[in-house]
Amino acid sequence: MISSFTPPQRILMGPGPSDVPQRILDAMARPTIGHLDPAFAELMEQTKTLLRYAFQTENALTFPVSAPGSAGMEMCFVNLVEPGDTVIVCRNGVFGGRMLENVKRCGGVPVVVDDAWGAAVDPAKVRAAFEANPQARMLAFVHAETSTGAQSDAAALAAIAREFGALTIMDCVTSLGGTPVRVDEWGIDAAYSGSQKCLSCTPGLSPVTFSERAVERVRARRMPVQSWFLDLSLVLGYWQSGGHRTYHHTAPVNPMYALHEALVMLREEGLENAWARHRAMHLRLKAELEALGLSFVVAEQDRLPQLNAVHVPAGVDEAAIRARLLTEFDLEIGAGLGDMAGKIWRIGLMGHSAREENVLHCADALRQCLGGERMAA
Ligand SMILES: *Cc1c(COP(=O)(O)O)cnc(C)c1O
Repeated sequence: MISSFTPPQRILMGPGPSDVPQRILDAMARPTIGHLDPAFAELMEQTKTLLRYAFQTENALTFPVSAPGSAGMEMCFVNLVEPGDTVIVCRNGVFGGRMLENVKRCGGVPVVVDDAWGAAVDPAKVRAAFEANPQARMLAFVHAETSTGAQSDAAALAAIAREFGALTIMDCVTSLGGTPVRVDEWGIDAAYSGSQKCLSCTPGLSPVTFSERAVERVRARRMPVQSWFLDLSLVLGYWQSGGHRTYHHTAPVNPMYALHEALVMLREEGLENAWARHRAMHLRLKAELEALGLSFVVAEQDRLPQLNAVHVPAGVDEAAIRARLLTEFDLEIGAGLGDMAGKIWRIGLMGHSAREENVLHCADALRQCLGGERMAA
């Protein structure tokens, strides 16, 4: 018989979602109110203010899209890329590949800058791509490539785009709240993130931010945005401050309580402290993993603290180990994607998951599983 669902208690150390603190779950359980209720409007205003802090921006157009990170990605591309626009797309993992797919579907003309999976995006290649394609109107790159654990130099990449008069779209789904993201200082025009990675909120919301230059580009479009739901000019009427808020769609009211709480917690901790905590926990985990003989996929200087990709030792059945971790230790870690499937593990230290007890639990569980695996071999 089907009755109420009770999830198992897990420790989430994969590529997201991350552990959600009870305080955020409690916030989500508060009574649902109408999405046009003045009290909800106040929550929306506060959420925008808190997101500006998280993104380190003054952008007026900063809000959460009512859908997961992939929708934030799509919102950036469908609004900012018109048919025929040349877009330089950096691809050093799965999510850069998705950006490329978005450019194609918007009718853009992509110029792909490829770097090896596990490497950061090479700014020299991006510069060369702009020199060969001076008509390019846009640069798109992933700041924190969750498929490999590599971080790219967003400031350097955005500066090159500016030099060539292009706008920049940045994926900061995995970096926001975990490593420095400085939208204004770096001169990023559009950025999108996700609620369930280093913000440690429940999945399903995508914070986005757009610069004044990006808004101008949307206003100057030759044709309407193909997507009705993601058309910024329509969503604006819903998210605008002060004025008359009109019905666009029904906001996910309770998940919005959760995001608000997650952002309040981030502000209480302080961004710098959150970044330092992710870094400290990464160093703890690194020592433990290296003691187990595991080696990292990404070169030390490009490593993301919140996503630790390690090579699976030769002869080890990686899926069997992950299954044991889940069933015996209630611990979720991530598998490799694409070309890296079966070859790497991705151990996340995102948001509330980046705690010492988790690091020790993970190291202990891996030690037991790998020891057993070797004895069986
Ligand atoms: C998780 C992730 C996404 C997609 O977010 P969803 O919430 O799963 O749609 C996009 N880009 C990066 C880098 C991610 O890690």
